[in-house]
Amino acid sequence: EDSCSIMVAVRVRPYSQRELSDPNVKRVVSMGGNETTVTTDGGNVHRFAFDFSFWSFDQENGDFACQGQVYTSLAQPLLGKAFEGYNTCLFAYGQTGSGKSYSIMGHGQDTGIIPRFCEELFSRAVRASNKDKVKISVEISFFEIYNEKIHDLLASSKEKNGKKATLKVREHPVLGPYVEGLSTFVVNSFEDVEGWITLGTKNRATAATGMNDKSSRSHSVFTIVLTQTKTERVENQDHDHSITSKINLVDLAGSERQSQAQTTGERLREGANINKSLLTLGKVISVLAERSMASKKRKLFIPYRDSVLTWLLKESLGGNSKTAMIATISPSHHHQEETLSTLRYPLCNAPSLS
Ligand code: ADP
Ligand code: MG
Repeated sequence: EDSCSIMVAVRVRPYSQRELSDPNVKRVVSMGGNETTVTTDGGNVHRFAFDFSFWSFDQENGDFACQGQVYTSLAQPLLGKAFEGYNTCLFAYGQTGSGKSYSIMGHGQDTGIIPRFCEELFSRAVRASNKDKVKISVEISFFEIYNEKIHDLLASSKEKNGKKATLKVREHPVLGPYVEGLSTFVVNSFEDVEGWITLGTKNRATAATGMNDKSSRSHSVFTIVLTQTKTERVENQDHDHSITSKINLVDLAGSERQSQAQTTGERLREGANINKSLLTLGKVISVLAERSMASKKRKLFIPYRDSVLTWLLKESLGGNSKTAMIATISPSHHHQEETLSTLRYPLCNAPSLS
């Protein structure tokens, strides 16, 4: 199971109010085992196999996947890997309104992956420090990438002329790419983390109002740096051994294509940049998937530097790392074309390997 470092899941949400308000609404998505099938309005049948197909359409169904199940299948294994010292990434991908934020962050009491992950991280940390005498430190940061620019979601007062300060990516010769000037906070409990999540989510929402639904056009990245330190006594001297792993939980920008009406000026640039990040991520992931299947001898070029998102995640994608992706889709015929393109990502972006 260790040979494949990327896991891909798909999740279908219930009908939205809007979809339900159409008396002719039709469900085009079905699932069985790990397979997802789309039977379009026109009668074409498209089948896709994933590591997991999560049915969250109706609770009456015996196969219904709740937030807890999604967490357990997809995110919990990454937590285990993080404690083993791997860097990990989890992405939510899909069109706006398909359930990315619901899956990653959750809604009210119906908490999603990030809070569940943090809660379990701390309960494991407590157990590890009691049992194995390991000291654990946890540091978090939260930022968004909009138009290939980075904004800190946890710095409340860094406004310049009413505009949020833009942070830059730098490359450390040993530690790799990082965001210069990004706030990071040491957290000692799940309650600490909850406070930062609330602030970051609020800042993300505030920035979005009045900006043509900016939140659907930005990627948000929640990063956890986990450091485990074990002290060993050798010949009357204490020696510290530390392992550090980075965990990135990413709510990607909406994958929908920009409509014709919006393809001018600033908006065109915006669309092109978002597209660049998603496209590059797709390429990176498909090359990694290819590499984990192909013989190791084969050298494939990975275009990390082509977008801010992939550049920053370079150390956490490929190499000593584990990645999971959850593609979220609508069940209804209204969105069948976007659903199909979501299900084809990232492999439709595979660079030509000739
Ligand atoms: P996105 O982040 O992809 O734009 P959201 O996560 O905001 O989409 O979801 C859109 C709406 O659908 C929200 O009101 C959300 O609560 C609801 N929703 C999404 N997925 C589910 C689900 N699996 N179960 C119940 N409601 C969901
Ligand atoms: Mg969202």
